[in-house]
Amino acid sequence: MAAKRIFVVTGANKGIGKEIVLALPKAFPQPAVIYAAARDKSRGDAAVAEMKQALGANRAVELEFLALDISSEQSIREAVAAIKAGPGHIDVLINNAGIASKGDAFDADIARSTIATNYYGTKHATLAFLPLMRQGGRIVNVSSMAGKLNIVQAPLQAQFTDPELTLEKLDSLMESFITAVADGTYKEKGWPRTTYGTSKLGVTAMTRVLARQAAVREKGIFVAACCPGWCKTDMAGDRAPKSAADGAKTPVLLATASSVAGWENGGYFTEEKPAKW
Ligand code: NDP
Repeated sequence: MAAKRIFVVTGANKGIGKEIVLALPKAFPQPAVIYAAARDKSRGDAAVAEMKQALGANRAVELEFLALDISSEQSIREAVAAIKAGPGHIDVLINNAGIASKGDAFDADIARSTIATNYYGTKHATLAFLPLMRQGGRIVNVSSMAGKLNIVQAPLQAQFTDPELTLEKLDSLMESFITAVADGTYKEKGWPRTTYGTSKLGVTAMTRVLARQAAVREKGIFVAACCPGWCKTDMAGDRAPKSAADGAKTPVLLATASSVAGWENGGYFTEEKPAKW
């Protein structure tokens, strides 16, 4: 019998992450364990109990809570240790957890904290789980259309799309944005007035860099960035046109499609198909 497929979904206690967990068993109707990861144990346990009830008699899928705060390196280490002590490997990592500050506030503290979670948190979690990933695995980064390449001016676009870009250089780009916000030079340096958009620009660029990493290539791992679309969640509010369940469709497809032939490794997707970054 084929081994169970092991999924980890971050930020799974609400919003799009929760809908991803609920949609996975239908998209992958084979034996699987889904780790619904959340930073807060009580919110995570409550969501897992509710989702178990919603999934009902689906015996092919096991649903487990995993404590994971992607902004804490210790929490990431503990989550990796929990997986090592459990199945010992994972097949699919869906990096959905993210934050966005409310309102129009824009300063270096907000830039730092948004980038700390959305960019560095996603990066640290991915690099920590990578050694546990099995051959042919998938990494799906829930990015955003708010992080489209054209939010930065041409010289920065060239740096973000440089085929020689490394994670270290990308870290430096994120740091230079924070510095430019702090000293008020962000506009003249070609950066936009959005901390969230810049953090997601970093996530989409990171996805392309990850696809080139030796560890990813050797294991034949498919890495993708996606935008779920503008969805009604606590983050985006009630004015959004799509449901969170609709938003789950693209990440779930990328995580479960039986073949990724024809899809660019490291590419950007929305509305369940490849799109221009
Ligand atoms: P929600 O705010 O509803 O959910 C965000 C989830 O991320 C929550 O589970 C939250 O946990 C979790 N989270 C936040 N910070 C951390 C952290 N440090 N460690 C672990 N988990 C964390 O947002 P959405 O469901 O709307 O967003 C999901 C993803 O989709 C995000 O990456 C977002 O940027 C992206 N996105 C959303 C769009 C939309 O229109 N909704 C559009 C484009 C992209 P907690 O409950 O503890 O706060």
